[in-house]
Amino acid sequence: MTFQFAMLGSGSRGNSALFSHESAGLLIDVGLGPRVLADRLNSVGSDWSRINAVVLTHTHGDHVDTGSFKGMAKRGIALYCHEGHRENLNGDGGFEALDRLGLVRHYDERPFLAPSGFRVEPITAWHDGGPTYGFRLEAGMGLKRRGVAVGYLADTGTWCDATADALANVDVLGIEFNHDVALQQGSGRSPALIARNLGDRGHLSNRQGAALVASILERSRQDRVSHLVLLHLSEQCNSPELALRSACDAVRESGRQVLVHAARQAPAHPDLRFKPTRSSFDWKASLAGAGRSKAAGRSTREVVGLLPGLNLEIA
Ligand SMILES: [Zn+2]
Ligand SMILES: [Zn+2]
Repeated sequence: MTFQFAMLGSGSRGNSALFSHESAGLLIDVGLGPRVLADRLNSVGSDWSRINAVVLTHTHGDHVDTGSFKGMAKRGIALYCHEGHRENLNGDGGFEALDRLGLVRHYDERPFLAPSGFRVEPITAWHDGGPTYGFRLEAGMGLKRRGVAVGYLADTGTWCDATADALANVDVLGIEFNHDVALQQGSGRSPALIARNLGDRGHLSNRQGAALVASILERSRQDRVSHLVLLHLSEQCNSPELALRSACDAVRESGRQVLVHAARQAPAHPDLRFKPTRSSFDWKASLAGAGRSKAAGRSTREVVGLLPGLNLEIA
């Protein structure tokens, strides 16, 4: 029973994440154009025929490109959104086609079961794009099986204890590391935009993301959180190196074993496979995944392995 989590795109020019198991798959957000999204799915060995549902975090343009909706309607793929997302989606032909077919489903704060069989728990975010949520996704649970869990939270200006509680004990943790505060302040952007990005309804800085990661690790058992994926990095006000440094400091201080990946706008990265084993940390599988990234010509600095007292950089 192997699960896949892949970031198909992450950043202010489009976001989408894949969580799948065999023929069951779910996308978080469809913020990439339909052709790009199909290409990114192919690049990680998947396609729309394996997708059963799409869940939307919010309706900012980098998270929803309605160009994919008509194809979803043809394939009978359900769209899960918050009721408050409707006002921004009404009037779009693809959205109305999904709605006519009963494929638009509403979620609120309560966990629900998506057609893929995955349990989806919305996690409240603080953002200026209307109702905004992160998600905890769980799959493969059985009477004697632990199953796997993925946590995903981006586009939030702040977080609280309940956020860390909801994201504890996942196998793969995706957290926003949007900007470096000094780079944001010196970016030359308008004061209003800088204040928005730094504010409680903007985006998490590297420092805030690292503090959230530390809090989640503190709440998690030793055999959980094998992978940490840094999300929604600003191209102008951040770099993978700065985000990784903040994240790795937090992981090192926790004394945990976690592989840290910086997601990119393009291409799809990382592309992780993992199993619900007793101890989910499988160095062999994790390093094989890192090898694939290197083969694709990506910076080796995007994947950093950590052992207590040892900073292992995969060259
Ligand atoms: Zn947003
Ligand atoms: Zn965004």
